[in-house]
Amino acid sequence: MNIYNLTRDEMEQYFLKIGSKKFHADQLFSWLYEKRISSISDITNIKKEILQQLASDYSFSKLRLVQVERDVDVCKYLFELNDGEHIEAVLMMHDYGNSVCISSQVGCNMGCRFCESGRRKKVRNLETWEMVTQLLMIEEDLKKRVSHVVVMGIGEPFDNYDNLLKFFLIINHPKGLAIGARHITVSTCGIVPKILEFSNFPLQINLAISLHAPNDELRNQIMPINKVYPLKELIQVLEIYLEKTNRRITFEYILLAGVNDTEEYAVELAKLVGHLNCYINLIPYNETNNLEFRRSNTVQIMKFYDILKKNRLNVTIRREFGSKISAACGQLRSKKEEL
Ligand code: SAH
Repeated sequence: MNIYNLTRDEMEQYFLKIGSKKFHADQLFSWLYEKRISSISDITNIKKEILQQLASDYSFSKLRLVQVERDVDVCKYLFELNDGEHIEAVLMMHDYGNSVCISSQVGCNMGCRFCESGRRKKVRNLETWEMVTQLLMIEEDLKKRVSHVVVMGIGEPFDNYDNLLKFFLIINHPKGLAIGARHITVSTCGIVPKILEFSNFPLQINLAISLHAPNDELRNQIMPINKVYPLKELIQVLEIYLEKTNRRITFEYILLAGVNDTEEYAVELAKLVGHLNCYINLIPYNETNNLEFRRSNTVQIMKFYDILKKNRLNVTIRREFGSKISAACGQLRSKKEEL
């Protein structure tokens, strides 16, 4: 077990279980997340016997940073895990703060046709500590605070649901990384039962849905998950989610030339989501050498955008970071492992 797997509550339970006091959880959280110790021997205010027990029960190790690609406002990190697997995280420097995109799994089973990550099937879920320490290590490299987190790297976060929720509890905790829930976003391809469960999660984390097509026929072709959870079920569960949480959701829509970017599709999209409290984020496709999809040209992107605007939807076109440094999902890992 790794110490960065534990939420504050779990840490309190641990100290009680070993016959010690709850308040050590406060102290330990502060050593891990405020003082950022690199070894258990740096801890000075907890009794030796307890530290010995702690050291025999938990590892304090982080990931191994193997490669960083740097650009003006973006850095891409490649980490090696204990079992030799690789994952990526991307740091984006915005004027409002530093945002990090983290991975949630090794590989991904969702099989979206346009996505590089899915070319490698899921090997395993990331444990909570492997998600938490992506952030710790990036802050260490950056020497600045990470203010925003998006779970949009490799993997389907709702296919690793329990570890994901613990990750949120740790990074949101005031004595943890204290990242405000509204500064955290999780993106899913649409695992309907998990969206329903997530509507009961107490933290006000933003939800983004990878939509990419406005009807089942097209969505089935590019996102196999749609055959399991078709659009009708997806939209229904989002209605419940919105009703329960009173929040706003984001739809991500990658524009793929000649595939999903026509004016007809824009009209259909407006009809599909027009009644929901939502943003639509149009994403210029990040082309990869291994896949045949191409990005829509700017004229087509603007036509699509205008139609949604005319239908009074909240639309933005995603600012692009890192197309020079293979920052599209899964590209850096693919290069490393020459898939
Ligand atoms: N599995 C989750 C999160 C990871 S993918 C999900 O599907 O939402 C994060 C986002 O990046 C998704 O919207 C995905 O469709 C998009 N994406 C994947 N490959 C891309 C590429 N080459 N260019 C732009 N966006 C891409």
